Amino acid sequence: MQEAIQAQEDEDTPQGYGWCSWHEDYSGGLRLIGIEEQGTGPGRNYFACKPCREANNLVPFADRP
Ligand SMILES: [Zn+2]
Repeated sequence: MQEAIQAQEDEDTPQGYGWCSWHEDYSGGLRLIGIEEQGTGPGRNYFACKPCREANNLVPFADRP
């Protein structure tokens, strides 16, 4: 019996390096904030870095009730 990997369930772990939709530049420690539904094609995901989350009171998607 193998131990389950729960890295994706650790909400305090930074999600890594990528595009911050708020200050519009690459940054580390991104969290998924929201998903914009679109009529056609895949939705667009919005990520924000820690400074932008604190500045805009953004709640990560996974941390919402
Ligand atoms: Zn940012």
